[in-house]
Amino acid sequence: MDSRISDLLGLIFRFPAPWVLTGAGISTESGIPDFRSPGTGLWEKMDPMEFSSVEGLRRNPRAFFTHGLQTIDTILNAQPNTGHIVLGQLQQARLIGPIVTQNVDDLHRRGGAIHYYEVHGHFRTASCMSCRNQVPISEVVSQVERGQIPPVCGYCGGTLKPDVVLFGDMMPADYQEASLLAGRYQYIPKLMIVIGSSLTVSPVNYLPLEFNRIAIINNTPTPMDYKADLVLREQIGEVMGGLWDEIVALNEGNSPEPVPYGFNFGHLIAYLDNEMRFLAGQKTRMTASRESLARHTGYIKADLEAAQSIIQAFPAIGRQPLEKAMLQFYLAEIERMNKEFAVWSSETGIEPNAEQSRLNKLLQDNFKDNVNAFLTYTNETEPLPDLVEHFAACAAGCFGFWSFSSRILGLPVPLQDEWENFKKTAKKHRVRQDLDQFLELFSP
Ligand SMILES: [Zn+2]
Repeated sequence: MDSRISDLLGLIFRFPAPWVLTGAGISTESGIPDFRSPGTGLWEKMDPMEFSSVEGLRRNPRAFFTHGLQTIDTILNAQPNTGHIVLGQLQQARLIGPIVTQNVDDLHRRGGAIHYYEVHGHFRTASCMSCRNQVPISEVVSQVERGQIPPVCGYCGGTLKPDVVLFGDMMPADYQEASLLAGRYQYIPKLMIVIGSSLTVSPVNYLPLEFNRIAIINNTPTPMDYKADLVLREQIGEVMGGLWDEIVALNEGNSPEPVPYGFNFGHLIAYLDNEMRFLAGQKTRMTASRESLARHTGYIKADLEAAQSIIQAFPAIGRQPLEKAMLQFYLAEIERMNKEFAVWSSETGIEPNAEQSRLNKLLQDNFKDNVNAFLTYTNETEPLPDLVEHFAACAAGCFGFWSFSSRILGLPVPLQDEWENFKKTAKKHRVRQDLDQFLELFSP
C-alpha cells in the first residue's frame, strides 16, 4: 500500500466531501494536450492569442475556426481516463463534493460525475455573439465544414462562438456559482484537492483560498504547494486508480455504496484537526495569552472527549465495511490528537480549564450552513432536480447528526420546529423525497 495514497485517503476521510479542482493535467492521459505547456501544446508554434481570444476570433475568423475544428475533433474523440472515472465514482459514493474544472472537454460528465462546474465553459454548444441564441456544437462544425466561416446565427446572422471561455470573455455563471456555494460552508474546515492544474490561470487559481486545507496532485510545482497538506507529483491516473483500489480494499473487495447522509463524524475530526493545528502554531510562536490558551485548550479537551463519545455511541452494526473502517480511522485520529494535546500541555505547562464542549453549537451551525447551501444551489441558473434532492438530503443528514450528538452528550435535542421549518422550505423548492428518512440512520 502506497503511503502517499493513504495520506490522500486520510485527508478525504478527515475533511469529508472535499471539493476537487481539475486542470488540463487530468486530461492529458486522454490524449488532450495541455495547450499551455510549452512544446506539447495544441497551439504549438502558433500565437495562442490568435486562437483563444475574442480578439483573435474577430481579427482572423478563418484561422480561429479552422484551428478550432481540430480542437473540437480531438475533444469529441477523447475518452475519460482513470482520473475522470475515479472522480465520478468517488462523487457517486459521496466521498467527494463538487468538481470545479478548468477543462472544456466534457470528460468529467462522461466519466460519471454528477455535480461539476465548468468554469472555462465547454464545447457542447455555441452561442451567437449578438443575440445569445444557443445551438449544438454540431451546427458550428457543419457550417465550418461547408466553408461558412465564421459560422452564423440563424436568427440574426451574428457570429456563432463555441461556449468556451476565451481570453477577453467574461467568466461564465458556473464560476460565480461555484465560488458562492463554496463560501456557504463556514463552520467545518474544508479541503480542496487540486488535480492537474498548475494554478496559474486567474481567477480560478484563487478558488483554493476559499478552503482551509489544500492537497495537490500535479506533475509540476504550483504557487500553492507551500500551503498544501499534501503534494503528489505522480501520474494522476496512477494516484486515482490506487486511491480507488484502497477504498475497495477497505470495503472488503466491493465497490462502496454511497456513504449515508448524516454520516458526518469526519466533521468533528476536521474541526478538531484545525484546532490542533492552531495549538501547534502557538507552540512555535505564542500570540495568545496563557489565560486565553488555558480556556481555549479547556474547550478542545472537552471537544475531544465529546467527539469520542459521539463516535463510539454510533451503532456500526450493519454498516458497510468502508464505514466501519472510517469510524475506526476517526477513533484513531482522536487518540492521535489526545496524545498531541498531552504533549502540548506538558511542554507549555498550560493546564486546560474545565470547560463545556462546543460541538453541539458547531453541529447546529453546520446544519444552518447546509440549509443555506441547499438554498444557494436551488438558486443556480440550471439546478438539476437530482442535486436539489441531494442538497436537501445533506441538510437533513446534518440535522439528524446534530440531534444524535445532542442526545449522546445529554443535551436537549434540537427543536422540532427547526426541522418542520426546514421541511417546509424544502417542499417550497420542490423537494419530493420524504426527508424524515434521513433521520433513521440515528434512530435509537
Ligand atoms: Zn443571433
